[in-house]
Amino acid sequence: MKALTWHGKHDIRCESVPDPKIEQPRDAIIKVTSCAICGSDLHIYNGVIPEMHSCDVIGHEAMGEVVEVGSEAGDLKVGDRVVVPFTIACGECFFCKRGFHSGCERSNPDSDKASKIWGNSPAGLFGYSHLLGGYAGGQAEYLRVPYADFGPIKVPGGMTDEQALFLSDIFPTGYMAADFCNIQPGDTIAIWGCGPVGQMAIRSAFLLGAERVIAIDTIEERLEMARKGGAETLDFRKEDIYERIMDLTKGRGADACIDAVGTEPLMSSGLDAVIDRVKVATFMGTDRPHVLRQAIHCTRNFGTVSIVGVYGGFLDKIPFGSAINRGLTFRMAQTPVQSYLPQLMKRIENGEIDPSFVITHTASLEEGPALYDTFNNKKDGCIKVVLKP
Ligand code: NAD
Ligand code: ZN
Ligand code: ZN
Repeated sequence: MKALTWHGKHDIRCESVPDPKIEQPRDAIIKVTSCAICGSDLHIYNGVIPEMHSCDVIGHEAMGEVVEVGSEAGDLKVGDRVVVPFTIACGECFFCKRGFHSGCERSNPDSDKASKIWGNSPAGLFGYSHLLGGYAGGQAEYLRVPYADFGPIKVPGGMTDEQALFLSDIFPTGYMAADFCNIQPGDTIAIWGCGPVGQMAIRSAFLLGAERVIAIDTIEERLEMARKGGAETLDFRKEDIYERIMDLTKGRGADACIDAVGTEPLMSSGLDAVIDRVKVATFMGTDRPHVLRQAIHCTRNFGTVSIVGVYGGFLDKIPFGSAINRGLTFRMAQTPVQSYLPQLMKRIENGEIDPSFVITHTASLEEGPALYDTFNNKKDGCIKVVLKP
C-alpha cells in the first residue's frame, strides 16, 4: 500500500510499504477514506519528537471502512464506517476504567523507554514514535487498529467524512481544553493559537457557555476564522498580549487561559533538540512570546491554565510563584479521546457544530509531502489539510 513515511527533519515521502495485517484478536484493518495532518505531526516533521525511526508511517487522525476484523473485535463488522481515536486504549485497565484512556497502561509496548524519560508511561499513539508504541500511522491506504472492539466509533449514514474525521483528535482536544476551564456563566476565556486545535477550542468554549473568547495568533486567515467563530482577536506581533487582555478584563485577567500552541518548530532531531529548545525559549531567542509564561500571567487569581499544546520534553522559567501566590489551577493532557466521543458525536448529529469548517485543503496521499510544507509554513491560507488515500 501507499503511505506517508518519515525519513528525517522535513523529509516526508509517499511510498510503498507492506500492508498491515491482523496481529491480535482485537485488531481490525481499516481502509482509510480520509486522514488529516495535525499540528502534532508538525513536531515530527520539524524533528523535535525523539525516537522516530526512518520509514515510520505517520498520521493519527484517520477514518475509513472496516475491511478485516480479528476474532475478538466485538460488534465491529466488515463494511462498518468508523472514526479512529488517536489514542490507543484497551478500555479495561486501571486508567481506561477511569476514563483516562491516554494513560492506558496496556497499549504502549515502549512503556519502559517512556518511563525512563517521563517517570511513567502514557498510552500508545498511532504514528507517533517509538516512545509511544511504534504503531504505524493513518496517513496511509490501510491502518491496523488495535483494541478495535473498544476504540473506533461508528459514523451515522448521513454524516460526511469531513464532519466526522476530527472526532479522531482535534475536536475532542479543543473541547477538552475548554472543558478543563470549568466555564461559568459570564466567563472570558483566552486562547493562544488559532490553528485547528485553537479553532475547535474557541467553538467549544462557546458551546460550554463562555460569554467571551479572546483568541491570539498572528496569521490573518486564522484570526479571521476565529472571529467568524465569535472570538475577539489579538495579534501577538502587533500588540502586547498581557496589556490587551488586562484592558479587556478590567485589569483582572481571563477566567481561564488555554495554550493551544505548544512546542515551536525548532532545530534538529532527538531529545537534545527538545532540551535546546528550552534554552532558546529561556533566553527569548525566538521572536515569539513564550505562550505558557504569558498564559499564566494573564489568568485571573484562582483561574485555570489549560494546556493542550504538546511539549515533548522539558520547559524552564515557568513563573511558578505567580501560579502559587494567585491560586491557579493547571490542567493538561493528551486527550483521552474515547471518553469524549459519544457526547461530541451527538453534538455533531444535533447540528450544534460542524467541525468541517476548519478544512482549507483537500488532496491525495501523493500530495501529502508537499502539504506538510504548506501547513508547516502556514502558506496559501492553510489551516487544516485532509488527505484522501
Ligand atoms: P498549528 O501549528 O496549526 O497551530 C498553532 C498556532 O499557534 C499557529 O497558528 C501559530 O501561528 C500559533 N502561535 C505560535 N506562537 C504563538 C504565540 N506566541 N501566541 C499565539 N499563537 C501562537 O497546530 P494545531 O494543529 O492547531 O495544534 C496546536 C497544538 O496542539 C500543537 O502543539 C499540537 O501538538 C497540539 N495537540 C495536542 C493534542 C492533545 O491531545 N493534547 C492533540 C492535538 C494537537
Ligand atoms: Zn493530532
Ligand atoms: Zn487501558
